[in-house]
Amino acid sequence: MKGDKPSVTPMMAQYLELKAQYPDAILFYRMGDFYEMFFDDAVAAAEALDIALTKRGKHDGNDIPMCGVPHHAAEGYFLTLIRKGFRVAVCEQLESPAEAKKRGYKAVVKRDVVRLVTPGTLTEDSLLDARRHNFLGAYAVVRDEAALAWADISTGALHVMPLSPVRLGPELARLAPSELLVAEGTEADLASVVEDMGVPLTAVSRGSFDSVSAEKRVSALFKASSLEAFGAFGRAEAGALGAIVDYLELTQKGKLPLLQPPLREATQGVMQIDAATRRNLELTASLSGGRAGSLLATIDRTVTASGARLLEQRLSSPSLRLAAIRRRLDSVSYMAEHRSEAADLRDALRKVPDLDRALSRLSLDRGGPRDLAAVRNGLGQAGEISERTYAGELAEDLNTARNALRGHDELLNLLEEALIAEPPLLARDGGFIAPGYDPELDESRELRDEGRGVIASMQAQYAEQTGISALKIKHNNVLGYFIETTAKHADAMMSPPLNETFIHRQTTANQVRFTTVELSEMETKILNAGNRALEIEKRLYDSLKNAILDQSGPVAAASKALAEFDLAAALAELAANENWTRPEVNESLDFAIEGGRHPVVEAALRKSGDPFVANDCDLSGGDAASIWLLTGPNMAGKSTFLRQNALIALLAQMGSFVPADSARIGLVSQLFSRVGASDDLARGRSTFMVEMVETAAILNQADDRALVILDEIGRGTATYDGLSIAWATLEHLHDVNKSRALFATHYHEMTQLSGKMAGVDNATVAVREWEGEVIFLHEVTQGAADRSYGVQVAQLAGLPAAVVDRARVVLDALEKGEREGKAQKALIDDLPLFAAAPPPVAAAPSGPSPLQDKLADVSPDTLSPREALNLIYELKDLA
Ligand code: ADP
Repeated sequence: MKGDKPSVTPMMAQYLELKAQYPDAILFYRMGDFYEMFFDDAVAAAEALDIALTKRGKHDGNDIPMCGVPHHAAEGYFLTLIRKGFRVAVCEQLESPAEAKKRGYKAVVKRDVVRLVTPGTLTEDSLLDARRHNFLGAYAVVRDEAALAWADISTGALHVMPLSPVRLGPELARLAPSELLVAEGTEADLASVVEDMGVPLTAVSRGSFDSVSAEKRVSALFKASSLEAFGAFGRAEAGALGAIVDYLELTQKGKLPLLQPPLREATQGVMQIDAATRRNLELTASLSGGRAGSLLATIDRTVTASGARLLEQRLSSPSLRLAAIRRRLDSVSYMAEHRSEAADLRDALRKVPDLDRALSRLSLDRGGPRDLAAVRNGLGQAGEISERTYAGELAEDLNTARNALRGHDELLNLLEEALIAEPPLLARDGGFIAPGYDPELDESRELRDEGRGVIASMQAQYAEQTGISALKIKHNNVLGYFIETTAKHADAMMSPPLNETFIHRQTTANQVRFTTVELSEMETKILNAGNRALEIEKRLYDSLKNAILDQSGPVAAASKALAEFDLAAALAELAANENWTRPEVNESLDFAIEGGRHPVVEAALRKSGDPFVANDCDLSGGDAASIWLLTGPNMAGKSTFLRQNALIALLAQMGSFVPADSARIGLVSQLFSRVGASDDLARGRSTFMVEMVETAAILNQADDRALVILDEIGRGTATYDGLSIAWATLEHLHDVNKSRALFATHYHEMTQLSGKMAGVDNATVAVREWEGEVIFLHEVTQGAADRSYGVQVAQLAGLPAAVVDRARVVLDALEKGEREGKAQKALIDDLPLFAAAPPPVAAAPSGPSPLQDKLADVSPDTLSPREALNLIYELKDLA
């Protein structure tokens, strides 16, 4: 490019015009095999992607910064950029350079942005976690109504629900969307709650949330006369749905994904679990952030991607509907009672590809032959699974699912006939339609292949004609087919009579290349036949794709049904291997667990060969509160016990068996779990403040159906403050909230409360002291801990022996003093000195040094400044 011209080149003019439309995104400008970025985009992208920043030409007399990435590797770069908070606008060439030339010598290739890549709108398998949802959310506030809508364009799910701003945080915690749309101007109000959840915010125009145009947009998408066809949606709900559809149109440039009609999610139907509780119980991510070590990772035995996503969804939203819970448990029971059938089923499921995502890519025109094959293979397995003989009577949900697996024969037959077993990735190169499916295609392919055969025979013919046995016919992309000989034959080939047949094309260092009329004609034939074959395949690809999209509803239903089977079999497998039992869930206010375990801690202990000690828990208090006040030394297992009971309730209500010998659980409508302040500096808030805000949320919200887990509340402040707060919190839970609760504390004073409040029982985690050391038994028993064993724990942790000994002395004195009612000041004065202090390093074994002698004589009060200075000189001499 002649970049040093003062005026803007046509290409740069095109670039700047496109860029002006996408000021907030990094523009990936396609040039041949590369995407190139210019100006500030280049600087930002080079830094974020760690690639070289160069220059290309000049603009207004200055160098234009530039960087580029190869187009075939672009996906990885998209991901890096969006992870770092950028958006990417992908600009493609809409015609070939040859086509552009036809329009004029200087014409620039037509280009346009075909897609905006944002975190919530990914579809590529390589960019997505197959086992997780990828939600795009939109939050609409219309006067006094508010609603959240969310879609997973990689699977087509679309949901909405009315949601007041105070409930937004917990819902975001449950759904963990990759991106949340809000109307311009409202982002500041929502930023704090959204950022807390780590959800990237995208502000879009207010118009996109407008409920009237939203109604039109959404009903047009589903080809319905009005949104009412799918239920009575409020204005905020319509606005949120509309914003999602509008954003998809914008980012996908008019190609809308296959969304399912909107489903209203009922908030009343699911157990409420707020963000702090989810974090604290490590449901889908461990405290360190990853999936490993979470409950989800520990219990996931699914073998399909959609099964894994269903598990995550169920775990994130345990149900409150008894009938649904029992039906799900029936499915697991069925699989648990028919183990070998379930094992066979799992083998069949392992062959099921990710149907949802294949469908979504096909609908967005981002698919390829492998997506067609995925639908074929998925439906094939669906048919196989539906035809299996099931020994017992299938559970109701499984039976419903089985019906959804049937009736796909027509589409399946079509795909089986049309496709080869393992098609290539791209439709562009052809070669995926099976022979025998389309006579015209077969004919073109035959012509093409015949031509190749003819060319092969020409080589022998030309070798004979020229007498050059080493003559070869070769092919490359520049020359097409050509005849090649070594340089020493060049003269003969270029002189009569051979030069009448052989036309010189090129001379390289060692070779000379020729063509013939006959060879060029044959080449044209091959090319034409090949192109024709490609055209036909492209057409067949489209018609197969459309055949699938026409059936997208039933295909998606089959995929959902396969996920049901997978999840039921996976939970049964888990239950059998881990010795879990079916819980009884009912309408009472009971909570009775026998032999309960913490699945994640148990799995971790197994690795080190240690057994997990199972424990009972009974909070069945009838109409009154029932609270266990748990004391015991650090490391005894208090937190583990608290959390395991919360997890058992949650697992039961998601429809899973539970890690216990038996469990009877009256529906838990809200689950709260809090841990006393630990360092939360990363979030930049006073830890004690966080603890109190979170405790306030519980005391204000919990009711008699709530299950509350409080671990060391009050620990973040001075002892008496902390004790008073813990005390008052417990009283409130007991008298006002009347919840079922487990309350772990190190304030032994609180154990007196059990005598005062009917619903409070003391429990402790047993330890045994042996030769001055503690042994943790991890057994929860009735009663209060006799002492806290902090000193022994400190010793176990490796505190220096001198410090441990000293701590024992202090503790004894304090305990004795307390018994005798001495004042603290007197106690401290009475303490013997710290005997373990190491002797001063300078002290010589043979008595005081001259320096010490001299110092002993000094009485500072009597020294004048002058004398003091002299003294310092003297001391220095002695040292
Ligand atoms: P606390 O809250 O009392 O300080 P934790 O619940 O954190 O104690 O438990 C400390 C450690 O003890 C855990 O990491 C685990 O290894 C072990 N532990 C806890 N409960 C049990 C149990 N029931 N059986 C076996 N080991 C346990």
